[in-house]
Amino acid sequence: MKRDVAFPCPHCGGRTLIRSSEQVSDTVRETRMRCDNDDCGFSFVAQISVIRTIQPSLQPKPGVVVPLGNQNLRWDRRRPPDLLESLMTSSG
Ligand SMILES: [Zn+2]
Repeated sequence: MKRDVAFPCPHCGGRTLIRSSEQVSDTVRETRMRCDNDDCGFSFVAQISVIRTIQPSLQPKPGVVVPLGNQNLRWDRRRPPDLLESLMTSSG
């Protein structure tokens, strides 16, 4: 399955277009992007990086180290008030 990268403009929320991209390392790619909204015109560089492993590779490359991740981490990030509340409750 192939999908386009959807990265909304951080200023106006409009659609952005990838102008070019460059592989920086085994785990990092940089893309030059431009907002498609002519009234905004924001142009920027975004980075796509491999941050954690969900399923280890069957052909691991020496030197490529990606930490094993918690698949539920995204959920934790969506609920900072709950997390903060539980920390406050457990400490006092
Ligand atoms: Zn924009």
